[in-house]
Amino acid sequence: MTARLIQAIHELDGVLDSIRKAGRSIGLVPTMGALHAGHGRLIDAAVRETECVVVSIFVNPIQFDQRSDFERYPRPLEADVAFCAARGAEIVFAPSADEIYPRAQRAFVDVEVVSEGLCGAFRPGHFRGVATVVLKLFNIVRPARAYFGEKDAQQLAVIRRMSEDLNVPVEIVEVPTLREPDGLAFSSRNNHLNAAQRVKAALLYRALQTAARTIADGEKDARAVVREASAIFNGWEDVRLEYLEIVDPDEMQPLNRIDGPVRVACAAWVGSTRLIDNILCKPSAS
Ligand code: AMP
Repeated sequence: MTARLIQAIHELDGVLDSIRKAGRSIGLVPTMGALHAGHGRLIDAAVRETECVVVSIFVNPIQFDQRSDFERYPRPLEADVAFCAARGAEIVFAPSADEIYPRAQRAFVDVEVVSEGLCGAFRPGHFRGVATVVLKLFNIVRPARAYFGEKDAQQLAVIRRMSEDLNVPVEIVEVPTLREPDGLAFSSRNNHLNAAQRVKAALLYRALQTAARTIADGEKDARAVVREASAIFNGWEDVRLEYLEIVDPDEMQPLNRIDGPVRVACAAWVGSTRLIDNILCKPSAS
């Protein structure tokens, strides 16, 4: 199987016009490339559920709060195109920054409240950049469905809310997080970890599981759960917990009491690599 690599919007327009005329549904998988098995899950779901899959690969400059992070982000385009082809994607859309931002961008999408806590509090402008580029991609590709990972739950909540509040005619599909055997979520940033750091990276999932167990055991006080789960990070060299919080799954706002499903989310630095993870937890039925 081959995938067609397209870098210009006008070329993509022509190709997608004929796909639409043929009555084929379009699925979009937005990514920043350096594709791994986690992205593969999104592509697989799109291939199952739509007739023409477009994978976009774009390292979006306006969502990076740190220039160095943007610059060191891996860009193995050739391998990514082969990866998409092997999974059954038909088109890889990999525009340059000038293609997406041909002049100074003056219009942006702000999703209030949902984008303000968790990562939003530590990465100013990040979700504004994400929401803006995703809306641009939706308008360029006009997919019936777009696929996003639960791994980036706040991003998913922001995009869902943007789409609902702005009546964007795209169905947002959530795909569960794919993990390594020790629980570490697949991420392009895992490549930055050395062997010792890679072992410590599993602490994030271990902390989330501790929270899940405490909640399942009946603890209703969010602060007590956070205390217990955060303790997993104590005493490890080269590891710094940035946040571990319990939030409402739609608004992503912190909760005091756990009375229904909650999202437990954390971010931690392992060396100079920032990792994030989250899980949905349900209290016991009693
Ligand atoms: P990224 O290239 O990191 O921007 O990710 C592109 C999409 O892949 C986002 O919707 C992510 O949530 C999703 N994704 C990244 N890692 C995983 C994973 N381990 N499991 C499932 N989806 C993932």
